[in-house]
Amino acid sequence: MNGVPSVSDIWTARSRIGQLVGRTPTLMSRALTERLGSAVFLKWEIMHPTGAFKIRGAANKLLSLTAEESSRGVAAFSTGNHGMSVAYVASRLGMPATVCVSERVPRNKIEALRRFGATVEVSGKGQDEAEAHCYDLERERGFVVVKPFDDPLVIAGQGTIGLELMEDLPGVMTVLVPLSGGGIIAGIALAVKANSPGSRIVGITMERGAAMYESLRAGAPVAVEEVETLADSLLGGIGENNRYTFDLVKRLVDETVVVPEDAIAEAMAFLFREHRVAVEGAAAVGVAALLRGIVRPAGGPTAVVLTGSNVDVQGFLAATRPYLTSPTPS
Ligand SMILES: *Cc1c(COP(=O)(O)O)cnc(C)c1O
Repeated sequence: MNGVPSVSDIWTARSRIGQLVGRTPTLMSRALTERLGSAVFLKWEIMHPTGAFKIRGAANKLLSLTAEESSRGVAAFSTGNHGMSVAYVASRLGMPATVCVSERVPRNKIEALRRFGATVEVSGKGQDEAEAHCYDLERERGFVVVKPFDDPLVIAGQGTIGLELMEDLPGVMTVLVPLSGGGIIAGIALAVKANSPGSRIVGITMERGAAMYESLRAGAPVAVEEVETLADSLLGGIGENNRYTFDLVKRLVDETVVVPEDAIAEAMAFLFREHRVAVEGAAAVGVAALLRGIVRPAGGPTAVVLTGSNVDVQGFLAATRPYLTSPTPS
């Protein structure tokens, strides 16, 4: 499969990955529904063995490799969740996996990668250098590089979230999805719009270092500087030679918005207080946009995808402390 992914590729992905990837629940959030005066549902993508949705795309990709490719092994460059998912799926399938990360990636994520059975190679100050190293390994050792988002099989795998949403919440009007490279939002948008063309798909990202957001405004892929953010899983470029996600996001996503760092911290604290769950900053951007009125419900159910929970405990406590002790300001 090399063409632009379609909804039928997402159905194929769903039957292919069922052996490795469990379905996740879509549950009403009473706290958000009361706050907003409109029904809000959370899609619990943190309930995977790796704590994040990227297991879907990784499983669809790895299960599509030939026997010969599988025996050479796979490699990934990643800020953490993608690498973890590739490592997990590879070890379940008995394939060797190497993950290239930058020095910026938090220690908890590197340790987790090793626990999932991957060989970890740390190099460079940012994603771009880790990526270059990964392609060196492809040339030198013949590994198959699994891209984090710009691959039709990965997009189709992430799109299975959209199929589940349509089954659990057929009348959904607004879907809020964290936006980085655009694999998850493109897949979800394909699945949701095929069933419910009037539903609004909103991408949410942090204020600074948001490559897809800046690229959409520039009209072409642009590079952005990486900065510290609570939403570290949303960092990284979209690739100068982006083949799929830039066009899909431009075509299918209705709006893209940014949320400030303090709103992300507040949303992490809100989810902890109201739902007793610790999510990472990248996963909290949708709730942040709702709490701050940056995105408003549109006369029907709203769904927010909670994408991952791989947050360093100390970092979580430091970010959320101001909002845990006092009620969230309205
Ligand atoms: C990768 C990731 C995203 C963004 O996914 P893209 O497909 O790159 O847009 C959002 N949240 C978490 C937790 C992630 O790991």
